Amino acid sequence: MNKLEKILLLYNKLEYMSFKKFLTESYRSPVAATILVLISPFVYSLFVNKDWIAVYSSIPQFIWVILLIILLLWFLTIIIRRKMSYHSGPFSVGAPYYGWRDLGELPYFNVIWKIRTPNPDPIPDPFDIRNKKLSIDVEYFPRCPNCKTKLEMSDNLYWYSWFCVGCGFNLKTWNTFDRVRHRAEKIAERELEIMEEQSDRQN
Ligand SMILES: [Zn+2]
Repeated sequence: MNKLEKILLLYNKLEYMSFKKFLTESYRSPVAATILVLISPFVYSLFVNKDWIAVYSSIPQFIWVILLIILLLWFLTIIIRRKMSYHSGPFSVGAPYYGWRDLGELPYFNVIWKIRTPNPDPIPDPFDIRNKKLSIDVEYFPRCPNCKTKLEMSDNLYWYSWFCVGCGFNLKTWNTFDRVRHRAEKIAERELEIMEEQSDRQN
């Protein structure tokens, strides 16, 4: 790999991470900042030809305390932002060809999730021997538990707000729609499995 390729790769990485993410989700940023703060008085002492111990001891104690508090808050922010981040796999669920059929509603995580399945082909292909098991999908937007309006989500740095434009319902959480939706999907899948197991036993 030549130098230019390396630079391009680094550039792509940075762009992918985005500056906000780099500041709020990578431990490298506060560690780098701390090292910079600790060595800058030393570098300064070299330039002005002073004793570095004298330069360090001339920095008032409250400055060190403030720096320490900033550092702790920074680490705390990163811990919370890491908890809040959720990278779901590539998802390419478009609307199915024949639309959705509602299977029901799942109350989970204090909101309502609509469970649905693609409508079957009206003219089934007799040569199609694929598994005809019901495939489950959970609607992307959860519904308000009071009025069933689709909820909206906003990122407030330290938490997400899930709120209803219909009635003012508001839920503060570290979870994105996506993360809870995937959990709701697992629960709905298991409920369907139980139903299938029960009907198998009756047959
Ligand atoms: Zn509502």
